[in-house]
Amino acid sequence: MNYFSHLECGYCSKVYDKNKIWNLCPACGKPLLARYDIESAKKVFAKESLIDREKSLWRYSEMLPVDNKYKITLGEGFTPLIKAEKLGNEIGVENLFIKEEGLNPTTSFKARGLCLAISKAYEFGIKEVSIPSAGNAAGAMSAYAALAGMKAFVFMPKDVPEPFIAECKTLGAEVTLVDGLITDCGKLAAEGVKKFGRFDVSTLKEPYRIEGKKTMGYEVAEQMKWELPDVIIYPTGGGTGLVGMWKAFDEMEKLGVINSKRPRMVSVQSTGCAPMVKAFQEGKEFAEMWNGAKTVADGLRVPAAIGDFLILRAIRESNGTAVAVTDEELMESTFQIGRTTGIFAAPEGGATLAALKKLRADNWVKENETVVLFNTGSGHKYMHLYK
Ligand SMILES: *Cc1c(COP(=O)(O)O)cnc(C)c1O
Repeated sequence: MNYFSHLECGYCSKVYDKNKIWNLCPACGKPLLARYDIESAKKVFAKESLIDREKSLWRYSEMLPVDNKYKITLGEGFTPLIKAEKLGNEIGVENLFIKEEGLNPTTSFKARGLCLAISKAYEFGIKEVSIPSAGNAAGAMSAYAALAGMKAFVFMPKDVPEPFIAECKTLGAEVTLVDGLITDCGKLAAEGVKKFGRFDVSTLKEPYRIEGKKTMGYEVAEQMKWELPDVIIYPTGGGTGLVGMWKAFDEMEKLGVINSKRPRMVSVQSTGCAPMVKAFQEGKEFAEMWNGAKTVADGLRVPAAIGDFLILRAIRESNGTAVAVTDEELMESTFQIGRTTGIFAAPEGGATLAALKKLRADNWVKENETVVLFNTGSGHKYMHLYK
C-alpha cells in the first residue's frame, strides 16, 4: 500500500491529480513533485517494521508513488554504506562513509530513478519511452523498459563512451547518436515525444525518477540508525539525487523517524561544467546555461538543469555549499578511492572525494564530523579513463 496523494509544482505549488499523466507543470513549466498522505503513512511506517522487508528501495513502499502490483524491479537500491577507515585516515576525516551506488542494476544509481519512472509508466499503460542521456540514465531506462516490454528510444551525445551505447543496444533500445550535448539530445528527443506521443522520462520532466532517487536519503538514515550525517557530498548533474534526498529528509521528519537535524548538502561539479557552483556563489535563484561544457565525468556534463532552483534551495536551506573540482583532481581521487577502499568508482564518485579534500583544507568540514560521499556509479563503463 502506498500513500501517494497528489502532485504539486515545486515552483508555483499548483496541485495536480495523481491519476493523470503529467510531465512539467502546465502552469509554469517547472518540475512536479509527488506528495503523500503522511499522517496516514505514519501509522504503518515504523522503524521496526522495516527489519524484515526486502533489501531493495521497495522497502519504503508506503512513500513511493507506485502500487506494488505494477513494480518493475531488478533489485535496485539498499546499496551498502561502507566505512572508509583508511581513506578517512589519509585525508583527516574520522567518520567517513561511501554509499556504494555502483552495485545497482546497470551499475549506477540511475537505476533507482528509472525503476520508478518505468514502473509508473507501466501502471499508466505507456508503450514507448524516450530519454536524452549522457549515458547511465539511458542504460537504466533501457533495462527497465526491456523488463516492462516497452519500446525504448535513447538519444546520446555521439562522443559518449562505447560501453554506454553497447549497453543500451544490448538491452533492446533504439539508440540515436547526436552531434552535440545532452541539451541538444533533449531537443531531438522532444521532437519524437511530440510526433509519436512517447513518454518523456528526461530528468525532472516527469515526477517519478526523483521518487526513486530520494530513497538514497531513506537508506542513509536507516543505515546510520536514523541519525543523519553532518555532511553529504553529491556529484551534481541534473540534481535529482540531491533534491530527492532533501525531500526525503523532510518526509522522514514528518513520519517521525528522524529529528530536525539535517546534513549540510554539498554539490560537486567539474570546473569544465559548473553552472550550479556559479549560481550558488552569485546568490542566484536560477542557474545560467553553461557554455562549452566539458568534463570526463559524463554524469556531470549537464549545462542546464530544469531543477536548478530546487538544487540551489536545498544547498542553501541546509547551510551547504557547492564546489568545483578539475578533471585531474577528480581522476586522482578516483584512484585514491580505489586503492584505499576497494571500490572501483566512477569519475563522478571521485569528484566527491576531491571536493571533500578541498573542504577539509578550508576546515569547512571538521576532522570529527561524519561525512557521506556518494559513489554514484561503477568505473566499469569508463574504462578509457583508467590508464
Ligand atoms: C547522472 C549521474 C550523476 C548526476 O546525477 P544527478 O542526480 O542528475 O545530479 C552523477 N554520477 C553518475 C555516475 C551519473 O550517472
